[in-house]
Amino acid sequence: MSGWLAVAGLGPGAENMVTPEVRSALAEATDVIGYFPYVARIAPRAGLNLHGSDNRVEIDRADHALRLASEGAKVVIVSSGDPGVFAMASALFEALEKRPDLHDLDIKILPGITAMLAAAAHAGAPLGHDFCAINLSDNLKPWPLVEHRLRLAAQADFAMGFYNPRSSSRPHQFARALEILLEECGPNRLITFARAVSTPEERIQTVTLAEATPEMADMRTVVIVGNSATRRVGRFVYTPRSA
Ligand code: SAH
Repeated sequence: MSGWLAVAGLGPGAENMVTPEVRSALAEATDVIGYFPYVARIAPRAGLNLHGSDNRVEIDRADHALRLASEGAKVVIVSSGDPGVFAMASALFEALEKRPDLHDLDIKILPGITAMLAAAAHAGAPLGHDFCAINLSDNLKPWPLVEHRLRLAAQADFAMGFYNPRSSSRPHQFARALEILLEECGPNRLITFARAVSTPEERIQTVTLAEATPEMADMRTVVIVGNSATRRVGRFVYTPRSA
């Protein structure tokens, strides 16, 4: 039996944004592992075991996947968006570091369309020049580091994409992030709130920092802040290619 393990990105939500490569891996899989809502996107079929698990158990999930694949299973770990963007691919390699005996296992990372890029496309081209992505959750890093990176990225005039902007367990931090952006970027900077991109509930709203309020974001929102040249053209937002 020759098992394998793929870490696959399911894209932001729409079925037609799942890549053919990911579809093929899922069609051959014997086991799919991931956070419940992502596993729920996989159609059940005979011979396929679906293993949904709770949030924040990434290393357990990775260990489980490694064990199944080493026993001969064809395993896909699913992430939303891209698996390498604040998701399961790094968690898998963290687990693999502790298992030198499995370093020759057949492992592939299959990219997906990340939320920030799907959101940018639906808004226009706000990431058309240099940009960065910051995870605003302090689950895996201290909040002062988030503030530090945010401030320096704003000073460097990057356009920015923010993942995990706001959750009910930490409602004040996104308000603080908006304060820092206002200080560094001024009131006229454009900010786009892109919620549930590529799903029937998609909502894309662009306002100035002066108009932005913390309630405009939740955990299904990716937030994009333009650079100093980002502007509107018709119903779109774009960042010119030169600075
Ligand atoms: N690996 C994922 C990101 C996981 S972190 C990716 O590459 O997209 C989870 C965060 O992603 C959410 O809090 C939200 O900020 C963002 N996100 C994921 N799907 C989204 C969608 N369809 N619309 C808007 N934001 C989304």
